[in-house]
Amino acid sequence: MSTDSLSALIRTIPDFPKPGIQFRDVTTLLADGAGLAELVERMAAIARPLEPDLIVGIEARGFILGAALALALGKGFVPVRKAGKLPGKTVGIDYVLEYGTDRLELHEGQVPQGARVVLVDDLIATGGTALAAAQLLREQGASVLMALFAVDLPDLGGKKALEADGVTAAAIVAFEGD
Ligand code: AMP
Repeated sequence: MSTDSLSALIRTIPDFPKPGIQFRDVTTLLADGAGLAELVERMAAIARPLEPDLIVGIEARGFILGAALALALGKGFVPVRKAGKLPGKTVGIDYVLEYGTDRLELHEGQVPQGARVVLVDDLIATGGTALAAAQLLREQGASVLMALFAVDLPDLGGKKALEADGVTAAAIVAFEGD
């Protein structure tokens, strides 16, 4: 399947969740068996040579793709969640959003010191979420080999921001001009 065909499976919903945002909805790609397999195979082809110990996915769509990637590589999966959702003892990080702050959490001890991890989310926009997750993982002593996304919005500069922070980043498709 071509990259253009994969992109075409992603639905764009204008003005969601607020006016001016073009929401790139990957659920339409997830619902397509051939598209989902192609996406996960492409992500696996990028991540496999890095020989990660663990795949870490960011709530919520990063869980779907992260778990699929973990299965494809025969590795474990660890979720990074919004504050207050994980039942066990957590470690967390607060980060700044356009309006206010947010917090990401991880179960304490689930990413061991020295673990080699690939971080996964569906989409990178400004990079704020992935940067915070990468920092949290580093604070646990993990090595973030790469942040891997289905979709990049290059005009928002997230991939560059990650790379400026020393985190290699890659995405399977991109939407220019967002
Ligand atoms: P950011 O922290 O700005 O890189 O935003 C990334 C997070 O917000 C990811 O978890 C995405 O799922 C979500 N997100 C941000 N912008 C969009 C968009 N235009 N379409 C779909 N999801 C988005």
